[in-house]
Amino acid sequence: MNILKKIISELHRFKGRVSLSLFFVLLTILAGVGLIAASGYLITWAALQPPILDMILILVAVRFFGISRAVFRYTERLFSHDLTFRILQKLRVGFYNAVEPVLPAKAIRYRSGDLLSRFSDDVDQLQEFYLRVISPAFSALFFILLTTVVTAWFSLTLSAAILLLMVINVFAIPFLIRKKAGDITDHLADDFAGLSQFMNDHVQGASDLLHSGSHKNWMAEGEKAIENISDIQKRRTKAFSLESGFYTAVSHASLPASFLILLPLVLSGELSGLLMVAVVLGVFTAFEAFEQIGNAVQHAYETRESAERLDDITSVKADEKPKKLTTVFKPQDASISMMNVSFSYNKDRVLRHIDLVIGAGEHVLLTGPSGSGKSTIAHLLVKWFEPDDGDILIGDQSIRMADGASVRKFISVVGQHTRLFNTSLRNNLLIANPDATDRDLIEALTAVRFDDAFAKLPNGLDTQVGELGLRLSGGERQRVAIARALLKDTPIWILDEPLSNLGRAMADEISESVSELTKDKTVLHITHDKSRLNMADRFYAMSDGKIWFKRLPGPYRVSTSSKG
Ligand code: ADP
Ligand code: MG
Repeated sequence: MNILKKIISELHRFKGRVSLSLFFVLLTILAGVGLIAASGYLITWAALQPPILDMILILVAVRFFGISRAVFRYTERLFSHDLTFRILQKLRVGFYNAVEPVLPAKAIRYRSGDLLSRFSDDVDQLQEFYLRVISPAFSALFFILLTTVVTAWFSLTLSAAILLLMVINVFAIPFLIRKKAGDITDHLADDFAGLSQFMNDHVQGASDLLHSGSHKNWMAEGEKAIENISDIQKRRTKAFSLESGFYTAVSHASLPASFLILLPLVLSGELSGLLMVAVVLGVFTAFEAFEQIGNAVQHAYETRESAERLDDITSVKADEKPKKLTTVFKPQDASISMMNVSFSYNKDRVLRHIDLVIGAGEHVLLTGPSGSGKSTIAHLLVKWFEPDDGDILIGDQSIRMADGASVRKFISVVGQHTRLFNTSLRNNLLIANPDATDRDLIEALTAVRFDDAFAKLPNGLDTQVGELGLRLSGGERQRVAIARALLKDTPIWILDEPLSNLGRAMADEISESVSELTKDKTVLHITHDKSRLNMADRFYAMSDGKIWFKRLPGPYRVSTSSKG
């Protein structure tokens, strides 16, 4: 498990701070033990009415322990929280760096809400590993040893009895908690991620759901998911209450136990009664060191789950790993050919022996039922994934040895859903080309016939488009996407069902402007709308990961049908 190793190595790097913090944890508990033992001694002694001057030393001790306990605790908190934040910072930066290069591929594989909520929850979970697992485990072990040794000095029986109670608290109780709350609560983070993804999807699509009348179903489904989660949380809370009750019972049992064991020694005169009170109360207070142990064990399991998930997100599959890229990517022209390409995301083959040729300047249509692998072809062309087999050439140069970013400089993708960010229209366009001037932006918007809509925007390019661009209509968002492609000005365009979410009239209108704008480009147009055939020179069909070349009845596209 790389990630847990990583945390431990971080802890190792801060070993000075870790030692100081652990040292103060021990001092805090010791001061607590001293305070209660000395107070017990003092109160009992005071009942015998000794001269007040005789008690001065023990009075000072009570005061010392009382004040120092607060100071130690404060110092311990200062160190341990400082440490936690330092580790968190390292973890966050480390994870960001690990995830960033593989993000596009991972983001396609995971659903985005899921990825985000898992990622931040899991990193937060790891930060507490020291505070909630290492530190309590360490002080528990230390106090088992210390209490066993110190009590053995008074009575071996006492030492054995207390050891037994401590072992029950430190080992039996966590075992009980695991049994009661274990496995199901480990997956709580998964369940939460699932719920947040579910909510994300359905709230964003709420108006569609209302129109289609299927909102009742999803509300019922959502309620079920919430019930399931609160059920798990209830079980968890129950288990922890049980733990805390059990812990209290066992630690209180130490009081009568040590009293009964030490009493004969006092009666026989081997031990002073005052010392007995101090020992009985001191031992009782030492149980404070085990208060967090049940929690710590549960937390350790949850941390392991988080670490495994983060390993999974940040691990780089062989095909995603940047190879040593030897060639400069300089394709001679904008032709594309896929030769005998096979691919699988996981185990199942998604593409089988794909041969696809698009000449420079040619417009090729790709149709096929949903799930047949059309978008996967687009993903491979822009090198989000690499083929398991076969080769992809652009302008007769294989993209295998080129890095993804330089391949993507040649290709624009306009997809079914356009992701707009919650910022101005200008910033949303500049993503495609940071150097574009306002004039370029407005030209692009005019070219995609966004100009009428643009005139109505309250602040022109500074208009905020809202979360996910929801202040724009679906058609407007797709026009922005096409404007982005124009600004990027690449020789190859991939249109992955950009019109499928639009009404017929809107789709026709946009389709017309796209044909015009891409006259001289190489275009792969993915659609399951066969009426778009008139936009293409040639036509491929896919089903179940296989592809066929289909001859068109005639050269449909007017302008460049002779090329390629
Ligand atoms: P299309 O675009 O033709 O609808 P896709 O290329 O999106 O089809 O999907 C082809 C197959 O690959 C489907 O069975 C789909 O479930 C699967 N698939 C798509 N994306 C992923 C992914 N990121 N991880 C795993 N499987 C995927
Ligand atoms: Mg698709």
